[in-house]
Amino acid sequence: MTTTTYDAIIVGGGHNGLTAAAYLGKAGKRVLLLERLETLGGAAVSAQAFDGVEAWLSRYSYLVSLLPQRIIDDLKLDITLVRRRYSSYTPDPRDPRRGLLVDNDDARATAESFTRIGAPADEFELFSLFYEHCRRLTEALWPTMTAPLLTRSEAKRLVTGAGGSSEWQAMIERPIGEVISTHLQNDLVRGVVFTDGLIGTFSRADDADLQQNICFLYHLIGGGTGDWDVPVGGMGAVSAELTRAARNAGATLLTRAEVVAVAPSSSVRYRVNGTEHEAHADWILSNVAPAVLDRLLVAGTEVRYGREQLAAGEPSAGPFESRPFGIGTAAAANPNTSREGAQVKVNLLLSRLPKLRDSNVTPEAAFGGTFHIHESWSELDAAYLAAAAGSIPDPLPCEIYCHSLADPSILSPELREAGAHTLTVFGLHTPARLVTAENNDEMRERLQAAVLASLNSVLAEPIENLLMTDATGRPCIETKTTLDIERAVGMPLGNIFHGGLDWPFAKDDAVLDTPAQRWGVATAHPRVLVCGSGARRGGAVSGIGGHNAAMAVLESE
Ligand SMILES: Cc1cc2nc3c(=O)[nH]c(=O)nc-3n(C[C@H](O)[C@H](O)[C@H](O)COP(=O)(O)OP(=O)(O)OC[C@H]3O[C@@H](n4cnc5c(N)ncnc54)[C@H](O)[C@@H]3O)c2cc1C
Repeated sequence: MTTTTYDAIIVGGGHNGLTAAAYLGKAGKRVLLLERLETLGGAAVSAQAFDGVEAWLSRYSYLVSLLPQRIIDDLKLDITLVRRRYSSYTPDPRDPRRGLLVDNDDARATAESFTRIGAPADEFELFSLFYEHCRRLTEALWPTMTAPLLTRSEAKRLVTGAGGSSEWQAMIERPIGEVISTHLQNDLVRGVVFTDGLIGTFSRADDADLQQNICFLYHLIGGGTGDWDVPVGGMGAVSAELTRAARNAGATLLTRAEVVAVAPSSSVRYRVNGTEHEAHADWILSNVAPAVLDRLLVAGTEVRYGREQLAAGEPSAGPFESRPFGIGTAAAANPNTSREGAQVKVNLLLSRLPKLRDSNVTPEAAFGGTFHIHESWSELDAAYLAAAAGSIPDPLPCEIYCHSLADPSILSPELREAGAHTLTVFGLHTPARLVTAENNDEMRERLQAAVLASLNSVLAEPIENLLMTDATGRPCIETKTTLDIERAVGMPLGNIFHGGLDWPFAKDDAVLDTPAQRWGVATAHPRVLVCGSGARRGGAVSGIGGHNAAMAVLESE
């Protein structure tokens, strides 16, 4: 066993770990980052998903909203983000020959679209006003995401001072379903608005724990505007730039280096090619999910994820499924560490864009923004209830987006010329509880079939006819269940945010004595910090978890 010493060791090489490594390296710290996979970037990666086909898909995460310009500037990241002209398109589930197209560049066309789906005359105006109101709150809170935490009262004062007192009440104090359903009348319009509260979050509009509100806030707060942009080159390009910045800053980045134990006294044990090593540091920054960190802090030799750990009959140090985390480590940073994920992700490569049943909208416009299917207010609620009762919702609510329309650079020149396109589908309300180690293969097939059926219900031709084939003749489609995601990138229960999201401010009675507490990255161990999605403000592709943990380290010295 070899032993080495650093200023900081980062456990996990997701985009947040890379961000922390870059900031700390820039500040002159000796940094070791350990990633168990062959590639860096975690769930922010591009992959050639289909054998012999030159298309580099954003395999998991795909759009960027929460990456602050400050991080891009500080780390001199060469990242291009493309703004989408169309916000969304949603076929009317009662008659998919019509649908709602929200065109950011054409208010008149959007208003006509509201009329076409039978929304009340003032619905478009109220819809626009709703988002204007939301911006009062999000514009006030966004700059605080990369600063020491405000308390709840301080955040409220900030928002109220910006003229947003009723917005605070509607978005932070009351279930978000209340304001959506009182402000808007049309079932489809309400649903389109509410989907932002359901990405990766298994909730209902009126849930008292307000997880849907927090998820909604994270989907609207990015840049203050909530725009979701397309990263040119795919999500892998974002992580590649962060990798470059970390390396240029002198950080040592090791891949295929699995951390097997973390000692709170600041050492880690990790394995490379079957050989165990030990490294010491003043600080350990955890880019892995809080649940995984809990497990590493008590770990012996092998770290399993979620259900596999339970299936192996291992002791309850990291009870992923049924109990809240109890050993008092990472749970200090985020009390929702055992919250399940609720999505199915499907990537497809098509020979061309499919034709729609709605002849008023071109496929380029419909797939140019977020394409919602079966996401009306009532369908979302019915889907939640079906899933809670143990079934795959039918129809399955889905969000679709076409990367190659905004950024064809992810396709080879031949595919581009041939008119091929990628589609990414994010199916909602498919909670991790539906999938087990035993039924995962069957559920993957059933979930994929449900996604295709949902898509076909609004298309003028079966999507299967447009699937390209790979070098072995297999159709170019890949489906990832929550368990697949847990196994691939170590997100327990497939939760895309490493656990339930938390408000971006501290409770009024929170102890904020140390830099780690003030930056929202503390664990119960003073020298072990959270630098990933599980940090208080770390959810999504943002680098904020990494930035904030690095700031806590630097401020402590
Ligand atoms: C299907 C899907 C779609 C999503 N879509 C979006 C989107 O469009 N936009 C968006 O903003 N966000 C999206 N997200 C969420 C976003 O991807 C995550 O919040 C983000 O990737 C978290 O980054 P991270 O660096 O904190 O952690 P991760 O990306 O989870 O990285 C953690 C890293 O730690 C490594 N690791 C785990 N255990 C060990 C160990 N024992 N030793 C060493 N290394 C270890 C993992 O291999 C991984 O590389 C999506 C996520 C998923 C899964």
